[in-house]
Amino acid sequence: MISAEQLVENLAAVRHRVDEAARSAGRRPADVRIIGVTKTHAPELARAAVVAGLPDLAENRVQEWRAKAPLVPGARWHLVGQLQRNKVRHVVGQHVLVHTVDRRSLVDALSQRAQLLGVLQRALVQVNVGDDPAKGGCAVNETLDLVAYARHRAHLAVEGLMTMPPMPPPGRDPVVAARPHFATLRGLRDEVQSRFPEVVHLSMGMSDDLEAAVEQGATMVRIGTALFGARGQGPWSPSQEER
Ligand SMILES: *Cc1c(COP(=O)(O)O)cnc(C)c1O
Repeated sequence: MISAEQLVENLAAVRHRVDEAARSAGRRPADVRIIGVTKTHAPELARAAVVAGLPDLAENRVQEWRAKAPLVPGARWHLVGQLQRNKVRHVVGQHVLVHTVDRRSLVDALSQRAQLLGVLQRALVQVNVGDDPAKGGCAVNETLDLVAYARHRAHLAVEGLMTMPPMPPPGRDPVVAARPHFATLRGLRDEVQSRFPEVVHLSMGMSDDLEAAVEQGATMVRIGTALFGARGQGPWSPSQEER
């Protein structure tokens, strides 16, 4: 695990990259939120992130998030991995922004649970911009329909779009490879937003390609490795600590 000092340094470096990319695109750096992806990492590191001024944290597995979240006071959580319908009850009502709504059945499950609890569930619609079988997300040409469908649900608020571009081919600059995919998501967001003005956010960009994402209008970048170092073998769990 990296030290808290190293994390502070990494955060400053990532923030600098974001700020530079924003400025050269004529954007305000403050309009890009950094989300720290803590998957596989111990709660101490997540706590260090909050202390360092990075309250927005993300996990990709519900089980790992549920174990970790109570140990990280002050965090604002984001769920960025595939969400199964049977896990929805653990998520709704917990002030988590779900980045991965990609089908009607998930819209139904989230909104039904939110209605039952009398809360508003915030979400982003995930789009598979590169049509990559290895990635989640709805198809580009289904996005407007899915947002329109979700919008009829009083207890669900779709606030933007999210994507993960395909892995760049070996040797290719990830920024160059990701740029057209981020441009696609931005164009799609503009189209959706012209009908549904509340759909504003663009969650795109990771450690290797954040410059392209910020240039193309990202409002949230999801950064793991560049902040927290290499990931562990698998999900963090409380039992690991006892070993
Ligand atoms: C792990 C993960 C990230 C962070 O990836 P890095 O390349 O380590 O920055 C971002 N988004 C999602 C959906 C992830 O699962």
